[in-house]
Amino acid sequence: MLGHDHALSGALAFAAAAPLLHVSGAQLAVGTVLTAGAGVLPDLDEPGSTIARTFGFLTGAFARIVNLISGGHRKGTHSLLGTALLTAGAVAAGAWQAGAAATREHPNPWWHLIPAGLILALLFSAGFRALYIGGHHGDLFGLALAALVLYRGWDLAEVTSWHVPLLAVCVALGALAHVAGDMLTHDGCPLLYPLSRYEFGLLPEPVRITTNKLAERWVISPLLLAGLAYFVYRDVGPAVTAGHLAGP
Ligand SMILES: [Zn+2]
Repeated sequence: MLGHDHALSGALAFAAAAPLLHVSGAQLAVGTVLTAGAGVLPDLDEPGSTIARTFGFLTGAFARIVNLISGGHRKGTHSLLGTALLTAGAVAAGAWQAGAAATREHPNPWWHLIPAGLILALLFSAGFRALYIGGHHGDLFGLALAALVLYRGWDLAEVTSWHVPLLAVCVALGALAHVAGDMLTHDGCPLLYPLSRYEFGLLPEPVRITTNKLAERWVISPLLLAGLAYFVYRDVGPAVTAGHLAGP
C-alpha cells in the first residue's frame, strides 16, 4: 500500500475514534496529523520508504537499524508484538517527558523532552510528507508543530479512561491501521511474528489489491479520503455550525 494511503488510513482511524476519546478541537487536529504519521511508522523497517526519507540520511540510517532488529521489511513492525512495542515506546517517552517527580519549582531537565520530541517531529513530518502537505517545507512545519506540542504538553493529554496519553493512542491506532492496510494487499502481514511467519490477509486472494495499481488509486484512495472527510465533518461539523449560529 502507498504511503499516502497509509497516512490517510491513520488519520481516518483517529477521526473515527475521536468521540470515544473525548478530545478537544486542538487535540483532534494534533491527533489526526500525528496518527497520519503513525500510519507510515511501521514502514520504518524499509530504508527506501516515505518515512525513512523524512530527515534524509538520519532517518535512513535509523531505518536500516530497524530493518535489522525487526527481521526485515514487513516482519516485526507489521506484527501485533511490534505494534505493542511501538506503543510502549511512546508511553515511555511520555512518562519521561512528564517526570513523576517533577514540580513547577523543580521541572524536568530539558533532555527529558528529547525522546518525545523526536517521535513528535518524526510523526508530524512523515505525516505531512506522506499527505503532500507543505511540500519542501513540510519537514520544517513538522518540526515547528512538534516544538509547540511539546511546549504545551498536548501529547501528554490522557484521552482514554486507562490514562493513556494522546501520543501513545496515535501510535497504536496508526500502526494498527497500517497493518490492516497491508493486510488488504497480496502479501498480508505476519501478525504473530516472531512466533510464526504466517501472513494474515483480510481479503480472499483473488480480490486482494496490488500496491499502486488501479484498484488502490481509484478505489482505496478515494474511499479513505471520503471516509476521513465524513468523520472529520461528524467530529467538528456540529460545533462549527453551532458556533456560527451562536456567533456575535
Ligand atoms: Zn507496510
